[in-house]
Amino acid sequence: MQTKFKNSGHIGHLRFSAFVPAHSVNGYFSDDAGLNEALRLFKASKISKVYMDCLRGGHFPGEEVLIKARDFFNSNGIETSAGLTPTNGTGKASTHGRWWLCFTSQKTQEELEGIVRRTAKIFDEIIVDDFLCTFCHCSECDSARGDKDWGGYYRDLLAQLAKDRIINPARNENPNIKVIIKYPQWYDRFHVFGYDVEHHPKNFDEVWVGTEIRDPLIEYVHQYQAFANYSWLASISGDKIGGGWFDFINCYPEIYVEQAVQSILAGARELIRFHYDTDLYSPENPNTKALLETIPRLEKLAELLDNHKPEGIAFYKPIDSDGEDEAYLLDYLGMLGLPIVPCHTFPDTAKSLCLPIQAVDDPEIVEKTLAFVEKGGTVMMTPGFIQKLAYDERILRLAGYANPPITPLDIWAFKFSVKQSSAEAESHIRFQANLHPITAEVLASAIHNKGNVPVLTRNRYGNGKAIVFNAKTFRYPDGSGRVTVGEPVSLPNMPQAIVDLLRAEMLSDFPFNVNVRSRVGVYFYSDILVLTNFDNQSVHATISLKDQRFDQAKNLVTDSILGEWREGKLNIEIPRRDFVVLKSVISNQLSASDNFEAKEEI
Ligand SMILES: [Zn+2]
Repeated sequence: MQTKFKNSGHIGHLRFSAFVPAHSVNGYFSDDAGLNEALRLFKASKISKVYMDCLRGGHFPGEEVLIKARDFFNSNGIETSAGLTPTNGTGKASTHGRWWLCFTSQKTQEELEGIVRRTAKIFDEIIVDDFLCTFCHCSECDSARGDKDWGGYYRDLLAQLAKDRIINPARNENPNIKVIIKYPQWYDRFHVFGYDVEHHPKNFDEVWVGTEIRDPLIEYVHQYQAFANYSWLASISGDKIGGGWFDFINCYPEIYVEQAVQSILAGARELIRFHYDTDLYSPENPNTKALLETIPRLEKLAELLDNHKPEGIAFYKPIDSDGEDEAYLLDYLGMLGLPIVPCHTFPDTAKSLCLPIQAVDDPEIVEKTLAFVEKGGTVMMTPGFIQKLAYDERILRLAGYANPPITPLDIWAFKFSVKQSSAEAESHIRFQANLHPITAEVLASAIHNKGNVPVLTRNRYGNGKAIVFNAKTFRYPDGSGRVTVGEPVSLPNMPQAIVDLLRAEMLSDFPFNVNVRSRVGVYFYSDILVLTNFDNQSVHATISLKDQRFDQAKNLVTDSILGEWREGKLNIEIPRRDFVVLKSVISNQLSASDNFEAKEEI
C-alpha cells in the first residue's frame, strides 16, 4: 500500500516532514498542478514525508483525493501518512475550550471511530494531533464522572476512548497500522485537560512531541520549553518517542529555527513542519528561508548527537503532578543555563537533582531525598517543595531551615548581594517567598527596603548538600482553561553572578562548568557540550574543565575556531540567536587527549 518507513524516532539522520490540514488536502491536492507544486516545494525544503490530515473541524477530505495524493507522493519518493485532528465540528462540542470536543458524547465517539476506520483503510500510519483533550463541563460529562475530579475523569475517558475508538478500530481495519499520539507543548497542564501520559505511551505505537514554542514576547513561552517537553515525554515513552512538531504561528525567523534546534537537542530526528501552505513553504518565506539556510548545520548537529542522550541535572516531575505556583519552572531553570534532564521517576543514580513542588506527589519523597543527599548527591529544592513538606522535621534539617521555613511575601528586586559582592539584574525580579534559613549558608540575597530576602542557600548534609533556590513562577486560577504559560515570568532576569553560582553548585560533581549570563541554554552529552544563545546580542561564556587542557576548540557544526583551551579554561563568544557545539567535555572513560583523538576520527 505505502512506502515502508526506514527510520523512526530519535535515530538516524535528520528528516523533515510536512503536515497538510484536512481542508488544504482538498485545496492543494485535488488537481495535478497542486500536487506538482507541492512536490516542487517539498523537494526545495528537503521534505521526505507528508502527513495528510483526514479530520479537522469535522472535515474528511474524501478517499479519492487522499488515495491519489498518497500514490502521487509515494511514486515520487515521498512517504505518506495520515493526520487526525478531533476538533469542533465532529460530534458534540465541549462546553469550554474553543476547538475541543465533548468526548463523553456517543455521537463524538462514533463519528471519530468512523473517520478512523476510513483513514486506516488508506494509510499505514495515523498521527493524532493536539486535540485529544477536553474541558467539557456538560451535564452528560458531569454525571459520567461520578466521584472523580474533572482531570481524573478526562484522563480515564480519553485513555479508554483512544483504545476503543482510535487504536483498536484502526488495527481492525489495517493490521499493519502504526497509531501515533502527538502531545501539545503544554506538559505542565496535560493532567488537567485529559492528556494521560501513563497509558497513552503504552497503548499508542509512538509518542510525538509539540515543540512549537513561538514568540516568547507574545505567548510568554521560553525557548527551553521545547527541550523540556520533549525530554520529559521521552523519559516516559522510552523507545516509543518519535519526533518533534512545530509551526509557523507567531514566529519570526530566529524563533522558527530555534524550534528545530531545541527539538534536535532533545533527541528528535524527524521534524514535522505544521502546516503546508504554498506561501509558508515558499523558499522566499522568511521563516522557511532561515530554516533552509540552517539545514546543513542542523544535519551536522543531529549527526554529532547520534546515539547521545542529554545528561545533567535531573528535574523530577512525576506523572500527573501539578506545578501549583511553580508552573513550568523547568523552562526557567533551563533558561538560566542549567543542563536539565527531566524525569518522571525518582532518579536514584543522578548526581544532582531539582525537586520542585511537583515532586511532592511521590509519597516516598522524603526518604528518597534524604538517602540521595546522604550518599553525596546535590539537591536543589524550591520554596514550594519545602513548604509542602515542612511538617517533616527531617526536610527542615536537610535544608537547614527554621519552622516555618517559608513565609509569603510579594516584592520586586533588582539589587542583589552575592557572597561578598553586589550585583544588579537587567530588570526587576519578583519574589513571592521569604526564606528562613538557620544553619544553611546564604549565598545570595535580594536587597529590598523591607529587608533582604535569601535567594540561594546551601546546607551541607551527609556526604552531599541541599540548595534552596527562591524560584516561583505563576499559578493558574482555579478553573482556568489556559494551557500555555499564563503570564510573563521574571526569573530569566537573574544576574549572571547568581546563575553562575547556582550552576557551579549544581554541577560541582560534573567534569565541567560554564559561566555565562542567563538566556543561554547549556546542554551536556557526556563528551559534547552545546550552548544556545537566546539573546539578541552576542554573549561571552567561559567553559571550565576539571582536567588540564591545551588545544584549539572548534565549533563542530561549522569547523570554525572558537578559541584556545588554557589550563582547562576556554573563553568564547556565542553570536546572537545562535548555537555552538564543542567536543570538549571529558567522558568518564577517556582522558582529555584520548577523547579528543577518538572524536576526531568521526
Ligand atoms: Zn461533555
